[in-house]
Amino acid sequence: MERGRTLGIVGESGSGKSVTSLAIMGLHRTSTTKRGGTTVSGTIRLDGEDLVSASPGRVRTLRGSKMAMIFQDPLTALHPFYTVGAQISEAYRVHNRVSKQVARKRAIDLLRRVGIPQPTVRVDDYPHQFSGGMRQRAMIAMALSCDPELLIADEPTTALDVTVQAQILDLIMDLQSEFGSAVIIITHDLGVVAEVSDDVLVMYAGRVAETGSAADVFRQPGHPYAWGLLGSMPRLDVARVDRLRPIRGTPPSLINVPSGCPFHPRCGYPEQVGGDRCQTEVPLLRETGPAHRVACHLTRAKQQEIWKQLAPGSAAKPGATAEPGADGDAAPAATAEPGQDVTGVEAS
Ligand code: SF4
Repeated sequence: MERGRTLGIVGESGSGKSVTSLAIMGLHRTSTTKRGGTTVSGTIRLDGEDLVSASPGRVRTLRGSKMAMIFQDPLTALHPFYTVGAQISEAYRVHNRVSKQVARKRAIDLLRRVGIPQPTVRVDDYPHQFSGGMRQRAMIAMALSCDPELLIADEPTTALDVTVQAQILDLIMDLQSEFGSAVIIITHDLGVVAEVSDDVLVMYAGRVAETGSAADVFRQPGHPYAWGLLGSMPRLDVARVDRLRPIRGTPPSLINVPSGCPFHPRCGYPEQVGGDRCQTEVPLLRETGPAHRVACHLTRAKQQEIWKQLAPGSAAKPGATAEPGADGDAAPAATAEPGQDVTGVEAS
């Protein structure tokens, strides 16, 4: 990611979005603790520095200063015993050798910047004295206190009223252009991604199913899972001629990922690939256009042909996903009513 760019990571609950961000931030309980935990392997580079092999101390130094995170529920992320100002000041002082007064002034400035009224007074409030939207603003202020290069927002609007959601998204985008951070927005709401992202990454079963610019992924998606997500989303800009098309079944447990393409039990297109490739061979991410990559065995021509029929507003409506019972090891078929949240994509 480049500074100033926004990446939207989408996928159903359980697809690995939050796990990925926790791995970047080094917030997993590691396997060296007595209660067991997580082993993270591979490579995560921030400014060229590998975070996976870095010591916990080094990651702690980077966390807050070079990378920061806005959590889903600010009420649980903020400490109830300390004032909002004290918590922002502490985050600033951990990374900057400044006096308490200077840090407090910085906290007031940040609260003002994120739109908290009377920041000189509210800085001494406790989290429970803030509304939900104000708490999320305070979290954003804390995350930005050290001007991070990477800001991860994990479902930053899920716990908020719909009227406040738009304000928070606007605020994150405004601050991004002011601070120049790279932003990752994790969400199951495709509307949010369409609104704010330059690039999109669709995750399924802990893997990248498709990635590309937002324009490419929304206009020319190549992965049947992306078709399913888009087909489940209500659209106001096209005439409604059909029911929403949910993806049948549920995401697999990541402890027991299906063989081959992990999406095959829910996919309606293995036959078009031919043989048992979908069941036996893990599809690699293949370039299907400039900076657009798809992990599916279907040829690009086939993907384009199918999407032409499925795209909103198209007359032809073959099923985007497998018919109920089409595959023996699939989860029970979903028989969703319009607007029902089967996929985790918000239908509102
Ligand atoms: Fe469907 Fe096969 Fe493509 Fe997987 S590889 S998404 S099962 S067509």
